[in-house]
Amino acid sequence: MIPYSRQHITKDDIRAVSAALRAPSITQGPAIEAFEQSLIRATGAKYAVAFSSGTAALHAAYAALGLKKGDEIITTGLTFAATASMMLALELKPVFADIDAQSGTLDPEAVEKKITKRTRAIVAVDYAGRPVDIDALRKVARKHKLVFIEDGAQSLGASYHKKRVGSQADMTMFSFHPVKSITTGEGGAIATDTEVYAKRMRRFRTHGITKDRSEMKRRDKAAWYHEMLDFGFNYRLTDIQAALGVSQMKRLRSHVQKRKALADRYFKLLKNIKGLELPAQDDAIIKSAWHLFPIRVAPEMRDRIFTKLRAKGIGVQVHYVPVYMHPYYANLGYKRGTCPKTEVYSASEISIPLYPTLSKKEQDYVVSALKNILASL
Ligand SMILES: *Cc1c(COP(=O)(O)O)cnc(C)c1O
Repeated sequence: MIPYSRQHITKDDIRAVSAALRAPSITQGPAIEAFEQSLIRATGAKYAVAFSSGTAALHAAYAALGLKKGDEIITTGLTFAATASMMLALELKPVFADIDAQSGTLDPEAVEKKITKRTRAIVAVDYAGRPVDIDALRKVARKHKLVFIEDGAQSLGASYHKKRVGSQADMTMFSFHPVKSITTGEGGAIATDTEVYAKRMRRFRTHGITKDRSEMKRRDKAAWYHEMLDFGFNYRLTDIQAALGVSQMKRLRSHVQKRKALADRYFKLLKNIKGLELPAQDDAIIKSAWHLFPIRVAPEMRDRIFTKLRAKGIGVQVHYVPVYMHPYYANLGYKRGTCPKTEVYSASEISIPLYPTLSKKEQDYVVSALKNILASL
């Protein structure tokens, strides 16, 4: 089976992890700081806070906003459930706005229409690794005094107007799940320029406890002293994972370049095929990290094409069921029809294999299988 995505692990990664296992601390040691520094260098953000998963990172970012029960956050339905579910974890209300039909990313005008008195933030997802229209969304956020968060789980290594993802929104989330730009097994991070968010998220990651004297209520205590200031979890990444992250970050650029070269090749090999729509291409402003290569076909044909591709040993996937159409959200009262373009996109989409070690031969196999299936319908 050729998967839709997979991790890339080298001997250097394995050496880095073995060294981490022999270090005095396998968690709460120095590797986390080194990993966070590498994220700061790669994004241009002032602060980076690493977490045990991208989901934990989202939970921390939303908690750092200090919002009240029932406050609303506008987001997209074309995303992984966690983007919205971590809002529910804090009793915040996800409000779904529609996408641009071609890029699959939030439409800034659709976002603006969903703003109410209770709206506090916008969470935009860099779908398939392609940055959202950051300038337009930031303008909407500024105008209505909202926080702008980017779910960049898929877009580490992408850029917008020559600035790297992670340096432009108020907070940007990254995931290090094995299918993403780089991996720590499981892991995530938030990049931000705002010190108070970074401090709150560091505490949230470790039970709401601080050992930083400048944050404490009592400062006259001995060195052992620490205070729990907020509610928090154990959302720490281990040093074993962080060591893998540091090693992987050295290949971030080459991973993205390889994905881009393969995406360009798909564009060349799949152009002008009837019944097939290709994703939005890079342009002068937007450079994707090419996490996915989402093709679209007629909705009534999608599952047949999907099943035939799987039967040919091609591990295609669908990204995503609109979040609000999952039974859990339906039970909360969310309705089909909320975002028509999202629903059409979701019903048409198939993610075909794209990852740094996909060979040209494997890619040719995917292309010819897809062409044959489309011709046979
Ligand atoms: C992967 C992903 C997440 C969740 O990250 P985990 O590290 O798997 O918890 C959230 N949002 C998007 C868009 C993702 O792709």
